[in-house]
Amino acid sequence: MSSAVVVSSENLDEKQQSVSTPVVHAAEKKVNLLGMSRAELEKFFEDLGEKKFRAGQVMKWVHQYFVTDFAEMSNISGKLREKLEKICEIKAPEVVHRNYSKDGTRKWVFRVGDGEGSLVETVLIPAEDKTGARKTLCISSQVGCALDCSFCSTGKQGFQRDLTPAEIIGQLWMANYSYMEDVPVAERERTVTNVVMMGMGEPLLNYDAVLSSMQLMLDDFAYGMSKRRVTLSTSGVVPKIDQLAQDIDVALAISLHAPNDELRNELVPINKKYPLQQLIAACQRYLAKDGNESSRRHVTIEYVMLDGVNDKPEHAQQLLKLLKNLPSKINLIPFNPFPHAPYGRSSRNRIIAFQKTLSDAGFVCTIRQTRGDDIDAACGQLVGQVADRTRRAEQWKKKVAQRQEILRTQG
Ligand code: SF4
Repeated sequence: MSSAVVVSSENLDEKQQSVSTPVVHAAEKKVNLLGMSRAELEKFFEDLGEKKFRAGQVMKWVHQYFVTDFAEMSNISGKLREKLEKICEIKAPEVVHRNYSKDGTRKWVFRVGDGEGSLVETVLIPAEDKTGARKTLCISSQVGCALDCSFCSTGKQGFQRDLTPAEIIGQLWMANYSYMEDVPVAERERTVTNVVMMGMGEPLLNYDAVLSSMQLMLDDFAYGMSKRRVTLSTSGVVPKIDQLAQDIDVALAISLHAPNDELRNELVPINKKYPLQQLIAACQRYLAKDGNESSRRHVTIEYVMLDGVNDKPEHAQQLLKLLKNLPSKINLIPFNPFPHAPYGRSSRNRIIAFQKTLSDAGFVCTIRQTRGDDIDAACGQLVGQVADRTRRAEQWKKKVAQRQEILRTQG
């Protein structure tokens, strides 16, 4: 089989590139092996009359050496390679656009599905930490999102569909591959060190596909990532947090963004279904499941700082009260405004004061560095630009224009 995915190697210094990915489309009905878990691949090979260990061999070629051409899988017999070539493929989502920022942030827009398909985005953020250079990939789990958080660019695009495991793990595959397009196979190494399921979509509403993708991330035959380096971030789908606790050990983050129900109902509407008390209790149960695991010693609280909305001293006090019995680390996120956003970013002084209140009370509280401002790193922003085509986005713009008109006439 010829290479299923080849990204053109253009000048990567250029800020922004529309990429026409040369993809050799395989004949229809070939099975895509990219998103298969070890158990699924073992069954696949057994059904072919082969030994189970072939699964591990193929997984290593695909996820550790980023080989998509069966002809290159040298420890597999020629006969089996020919068979695989005929009936299956390894196919990552197609890159239609990419931005590489000067600060090292990389962002891709992928086309998923056939024909025109749909667009999702993935962002990689580099940082230095105690253990060295960290490269964190923020992965999408759905095309758009149904939850419509009021500060979120993705929510404005509406929900289209869930991603498949191949489309989810394909984002990790492609981000790694982007660093080794010209590296010989034997010298290829995985570059992405951390994953957060925090891109477009609510991961717990695409539970099975997200779970099996995270299992691949942890699998030693695939990415072999440590549990504490894989984080699932949810807006608070309480029953699924409990299910997750049973199914896998990964780190948990909560998109909280408000310290009381009234405000959270407005910013994160799923709060009306699962209010704060229920959410905090679910987090406590998650940690209690195996509190000694390094991935489960605390929950990360994500809190976007919206000017004059949730950033006042009283909000910091309410947050302290809310989190007093939940081991947590708080990450304050300066809002990254998108076109027609109804909010502004809190001032630096306001954010620092908010952080101080939490730190003084003993919480580890960090301020997320704004990265990739030059490439529109806010979730959903780039797809919104590449294809702003849903009715909801249009309606949203109209609403904002109406509101501005009212303010103008009120003087
Ligand atoms: S913040 Fe997350 S859950 Fe809320 S609308 Fe955006 S993608 Fe969906």
